[in-house]
Amino acid sequence: MATMRAEALRVQGALALLRHAHAHPGVTRAEAAASLGLSSGSATEIMGRLRAARLLGERAAPQTGGRGRPSTVLVPHPDGPLVAVVELTHATWTVTTAAIGGELAPAPVHRHRGGAPGEVLAAVGAALDEVRTACGDRLAAVGVALPGTVRGHTVVQAATLQWRDVDLSGLAGGLPLTVGNDASLAGVAEALRGAARGVPVALHLTVEVGVGGVLLVDGAPVLGAAGAGGEFGHVPFGDPALRCPCGAAGCWDLTVDGRAMARSLGRPAPDDPRAFAGEVLAAARADDPAARAAVAEAAEALGRGIGALLNALDPAVVTLGGLGVDLLEIAGEAIAAAVRRAAMAWRRPALPPVVPAALGSRGPSIGAAESALGAVLAGLTQERVARR
Ligand SMILES: [Zn+2]
Repeated sequence: MATMRAEALRVQGALALLRHAHAHPGVTRAEAAASLGLSSGSATEIMGRLRAARLLGERAAPQTGGRGRPSTVLVPHPDGPLVAVVELTHATWTVTTAAIGGELAPAPVHRHRGGAPGEVLAAVGAALDEVRTACGDRLAAVGVALPGTVRGHTVVQAATLQWRDVDLSGLAGGLPLTVGNDASLAGVAEALRGAARGVPVALHLTVEVGVGGVLLVDGAPVLGAAGAGGEFGHVPFGDPALRCPCGAAGCWDLTVDGRAMARSLGRPAPDDPRAFAGEVLAAARADDPAARAAVAEAAEALGRGIGALLNALDPAVVTLGGLGVDLLEIAGEAIAAAVRRAAMAWRRPALPPVVPAALGSRGPSIGAAESALGAVLAGLTQERVARR
């Protein structure tokens, strides 16, 4: 009985050490053991199991010049599980892989022409077939990030891709599949590995074409009953006279991006609002007064909505990705002033910081990798790390 209990504790310890190594890339065995309260002997025994189970490996730690026995750095096992990571944007797609610890393998960015999903999904499927052939049985799950509203494995609506009700179940070839909104996954990445790391309640917003995001509680996204929440851009913080491609009126989306800048400048609605915003931002950086005014107007609309969301959600920090980083840099004062005006008076002495996202454009892929690796870690059976 005592032996069975000891064995159960060792299995729990092994899974805890694996999760710790995943969450803290570069951690040494000694640091991980100390964090988890494991004796050196237990850590050695547990590492033996994780190595035999082809989950974790070790390499020599860099010399620190300190005293004591040198430790080792915990690394993904060279034959360990991998996930395939797919990221779609309104104009590009990439397929790559990630191992325990979440590091993405380098991968080329391909352009697509949008329109019907068949063509781009066929290209993505062919790239996934190549990954499957290269990885063999190491491939354990597939994670997808895209600019749309997702319910389960179905993209119910993706305005910039012009998709409705596209089922992605077929992409994974029978492996576990996770599909998520790009802004929500960027938020997951910021909470686990970026600017909101360790923050108990954080709000992430990505501005690209429109604005999306997610509330994160202890690093976990709050996505609602169907997983389709976080569509902050379709809250009517905007002009009620403007009709949004989503079907609603007055959406915040229309006031914070290249479409808003075009209206400010008296220009026609741009075909590619993201590219147009890039041009306006460049002109604003070069001190063009009209461009600066258009950027300030978008920044003010962004700040007004952030202030409202602070009142509603009470995050301890707000991270901004995509164009939000540029708006903070060029018109940070306008954002801050609008946040302050929209926030309830009692909040104003201690408003949470609004900071740029740390992971940049890699956020959605990092979040998709986390989501798929989370499914792999959750699905590990006790047998895999049991004594053999
Ligand atoms: Zn809308």
